[in-house]
Formats: sequence, structure tokens, C-alpha cells
Amino acid sequence: MLYRTYRPQKFSELVGLETVKQTLQNQVKEDKVAHAYLFAGPRGTGKTTTARILAKAINCQASETRRQRSGEPCGKCSACKQIEEGRYLDLIEIDAASNRGIDDIRSLREKVRLAPSVGKYKVYIIDEAHMLTPDASNALLKTLEEPPAHAIFVLATTEPYRLLETIRSRCQRFTFERAPVAMIVEKLKEIVKKEKAKISDDDLGQIAKAAGGGFRDAETLLEQVLTGGAKIENLVGFSKLADLGGFFDNLIAGQASPALILINDLSSQGVAMDDLGEKILEYLRDLLLIKAGVGDELVEVPAEQYQMMSRQAQAISEQKLEDMINKFTQAYDYLSQAVIPSLPLEVAVVEVASSELRVVSEEQKEITKSQKVEPNQTIERSEIASDPRSRPISQLANQPTDQWSSLMAAVKPLNHSVEALLRSCSPGELKGKVLIIKPFYPFHKERLEEPRNRKILDSAVAQVYGKGVKVKVELKEKENGS
Ligand SMILES: [Zn+2]
Repeated sequence: MLYRTYRPQKFSELVGLETVKQTLQNQVKEDKVAHAYLFAGPRGTGKTTTARILAKAINCQASETRRQRSGEPCGKCSACKQIEEGRYLDLIEIDAASNRGIDDIRSLREKVRLAPSVGKYKVYIIDEAHMLTPDASNALLKTLEEPPAHAIFVLATTEPYRLLETIRSRCQRFTFERAPVAMIVEKLKEIVKKEKAKISDDDLGQIAKAAGGGFRDAETLLEQVLTGGAKIENLVGFSKLADLGGFFDNLIAGQASPALILINDLSSQGVAMDDLGEKILEYLRDLLLIKAGVGDELVEVPAEQYQMMSRQAQAISEQKLEDMINKFTQAYDYLSQAVIPSLPLEVAVVEVASSELRVVSEEQKEITKSQKVEPNQTIERSEIASDPRSRPISQLANQPTDQWSSLMAAVKPLNHSVEALLRSCSPGELKGKVLIIKPFYPFHKERLEEPRNRKILDSAVAQVYGKGVKVKVELKEKENGS
């Protein structure tokens, strides 16, 4: 498997992650490695791979001068070899998702005390560290407070804000980011060179796109091309297939015709309709995960695509998304018996696109109606409309230009995800010199309170509401349906 063969084994082989690798390499060179690290970032961004390289670099048996010069593992000594083969006694990898209890951490605490069996350092990689139970987290904290000189902890997580603040503050934090398509192509280029094969950059671009952006998928596809199992010409259709962003932009905007044209194009290029149906459902699932706030944890796509998908997930209500999933699932079920292969998907497209129009126009009717009733009812109505889960797309597109919208407009260029967080709150209320912002979910509240996000928010608030206005984030109380 190329994926295994070409898993990065040195800092220099990591794709992107410039700051991460430079800092770690310098620490290795200067022998100033920390006792606890927090590697935070989405799935598939190289957190555990980097942790293993670090484990090798600090236990490598090559000469001191070599280490001080390069800060890299040699890859040849028995420590390096054993770590690469996953049988090094002093590298302990714990999956916190399945060993999350107090007993697991207790036994870890006992073993940590013991000196390393073969190496200089005992390295503990705790993957999915946010999954530890509160008791286990507290036990881990005790170890981190007084780590033995020979122990090094790397906590890897997709959700750093779910870790205890006291644990986070004990760790040196590194942020891992999604790679853009161009970097995936770079990585594929290196492999092609090592395999002594010839594939043009354009073709590698098609492979990266066809893989939907994940490194692992891209390498698997490349392998199929190299072994003759897949042909680039056939991938062209597939790369369009992976490029479903425009398709969903159209559906969300209620436009059926461009989406129908795409289905026809793909069909005439020989793309099987069940492959297309599958890709559509995968894409919808990713949108659902992003909307539920677990995209960082579960969705593996390149940076550009993730940004686009986040935007789409915001623009669509949960209900609408569910409706789309139901309609396309039904279409997928009909595919095997369809007389005209593309028909079930076409029907779903038309239904989804027109149901969008219906939802919007009914809501608009409601809003105009409500303006004629008593004032207190109007307030209720506008409160319901401000819930992002029920807000129709048309309103998202042109909101009234008040201070709240200006705030979002001010935040957007600074940071997209903070803007997304604000969209998932009810509009801020200004009480004296305090702007009260109310998220609907505790998760969003935590995100808004992260220092980095808070800084962005504070500076935008000062800009829009004036200096001296303070921000207070409060969870929005659940209202009863009545
Ligand atoms: Zn070595």
C-alpha cells in the first residue's frame, strides 16, 4: 500500500505544517523537548504521524552531532526501525476513545513511573484525548503535573476545547490545519518521483480532486493509476463527481436546471449513476456532520472544500438537509430498477429544488402576514425567524442592515468560523455597555469563549458598537414550543 509505504517518516516529509515541524525540529536539535504536547486539528491532518516522528527523533540512537545538526530521526537505527514497525517498547499509543476510564489512566500512571525499557524517553501518544472521562482526565492531570523526567505525553485531539483547561494549560499546543489541494498534489508528485513513474501535474490534480481531497484516498487512487487499475481518462468524470460543490449551491438556491445538466454530463461521460448517488449521499452526510458541529472530527476534505461546505451547511436549515437526505436516499434505492438510469436522481433534484422554493415562499407569506397583527406577536415571530435552524435561505442572504449584521460583516474577513458561530446565535442584545450574545448550544458557547475567537469578537465589537462595549456570552434558554 502506498499509503503505508509513503507515510511520512521524517519531519521534512510532512506536507504543509511548516510551523509545527520547524518548532519540533528545533526542540529536538536543542534538546529542549517539552513533557506534554497538545496536537489539535481535524481528522487526517497528521497529528499521530507527527507524534511518532517526534518519538523517533528523541529516541534515535544516531550520534549527538547528527541530532544537533538535523533534528531528524535517522530512520536506520533499531529504535527508528522498531517505531516504524510499531513494536518499540517505549512508545505507548493509547486510543482514548476505547480506553477512556479511570482504570486505564490509573495503570498508565503506575507504569509511567518505571524507567524506559530501551530508549531515553517513554513516549505516550493519547489519541482522541477529549474522550477521556472526567475521572480519567483528572488522573491524567496529576501525572502531567509531576511528569517523570523520562516521560513525554502527546495528546492528540480533534476537539481541544473539550479537554480540561488545567490539562490544556500544562501542554505545549500545536495546531494542525487541513491541507489545500495544491499541497496534496505536491505530495503525490513526490511519490510519483520515488516510484520512478511519469504522470503530469494536471493528471495529479485530477487524482487529488477525484479523491475528494483526503490524502489517504488520493494515494490509494494514485496507486490504482500506477498499477494500471484505473485510467486517468475515467478519473476526469470522477473528479467532476467529487466536485459537487456547485451542484449543491444550485440545489440550495432552488435551481434545478444546472444540477440536471451536470447529471446529464456525467451520465454521458460514462459515470455510473449509483456512483453519483453514493457521492451525493456522502456529500450530504458531510454537510450534516459539519452542521452538527463535528466536522473537524469526522470530515476529511481539503481546506477549500471544507470552507465551501461550511458555508453551505450554514445556509441550509437542518430540516431542509434532512429532507434532501431522505429524497436522495429514496432515489438511490430506486436506481437499480430504473428504466432510464438517471431518472431517479433527476426526480430527486427537481423535488429538492422546488421544495426549497415552497418553504421560502410560505415563510415569506407568514412574515408579511405577521406584520399586520398585534405588535407582541410580531416579536415572537421575529424570534422564531432568528433561529438559524428555521431561517430560510432567502433571509440569510439579505438580512436587515443593523448593528448585528454589521458585526457579522466585520468578523467575516477576520475569521470565517467566528462568523459562522455568530450566525448560530440569536441576534445580540445591547444592554447599556454590554452586548449579550446568546448561542443555542453549549458547544457554540465554548467555541465563542476560546481566547483566540474571543479576541477576534472583541475587536469587531469595538469596531461596530464602539470602544468600551463588553461582550457577554450566555446560553440561550430553551423555549417551550407553546
Ligand atoms: Zn535512528
